[in-house]
Amino acid sequence: MKTLLLLLLASTAHAITIERVFLGGEPPASAVGGGSLETCFNAAADIWEEAIKDDWHVRISYRWENLAVQWGSEFTASKTNGRADEAVIFIDNSGTLNLYLDPNPWDALEFDSYTETVIDAGGGPLIGARYFYGPNTADASNRFDVFSMCVHEIGHALGMDGTLPGWDTSTSNDGYLHIREPLPFAGTDVLLFPDHSPHVSSFQVYGSSISGLQVGQRRWPSELDILCCAQVAQWRSLNLELRPTLHVGHQGGSVTLDWPAFFPSYRLQTCEDLRSGWQDVESEPVRDGKRLVVSVDCVGARKLYRLEKR
Ligand SMILES: [Zn+2]
Repeated sequence: MKTLLLLLLASTAHAITIERVFLGGEPPASAVGGGSLETCFNAAADIWEEAIKDDWHVRISYRWENLAVQWGSEFTASKTNGRADEAVIFIDNSGTLNLYLDPNPWDALEFDSYTETVIDAGGGPLIGARYFYGPNTADASNRFDVFSMCVHEIGHALGMDGTLPGWDTSTSNDGYLHIREPLPFAGTDVLLFPDHSPHVSSFQVYGSSISGLQVGQRRWPSELDILCCAQVAQWRSLNLELRPTLHVGHQGGSVTLDWPAFFPSYRLQTCEDLRSGWQDVESEPVRDGKRLVVSVDCVGARKLYRLEKR
């Protein structure tokens, strides 16, 4: 009898579900890259779903809109229990900004470098910023990455929102957002923009996705960004490390394991007996759209699988 026992290192039982509703509009004629707002938004929603594992459903509608003076905005349409369950996001199509529409934002191959900036703002060292830079294509250079704009705006919808009740109880007049128990890194004081708007100040850490964006960069939610959302919207089940979750599937007659293509730096390992240790699975993952897929041999009584950082 063939059985397959999987050891999943992050819970798959619960996760935030972001329902995505594209309301239309057209990209500015000056946008390049060949991708679409739908693709960029979906990838940005996917990465936030990796970050927050609370059982929650939020419907985010989004559209192109002529905003002219800003690159994006978010409007919370409805909230329940201190969180948004419905929000609308607008991305600027006035042509004021040069935009990059990545046709495949699940990888960041068009950027040569990636950095994680560690800061200690009172609650212990944590990753304040995760960003890619050094674009190696003309399209990604000197342009605002629409995927990163969506990451930023979804961060507002998931907690960085001054109209949520948790905002008033988490911020103080001195311009800080305070991360408190029971969250990890409690005691972290996050400096906000001088206008106290729900943005992380670049004076405390450069490169937060909740700060903003610069041309030729891609920003992912940092540990600090995820904690800020969690403090205001009371998320409790966080994947601060952005450790990918393994998923079991079937292709033809064989069993497959897959994880989001955001994370090529992880490799699949297997073990039949925890006493004998973990070994790398020899076959390299195959990219299938937004997932990395490995076919696994499930002959034998039992096998354990996990993802480890290379
Ligand atoms: Zn903003």
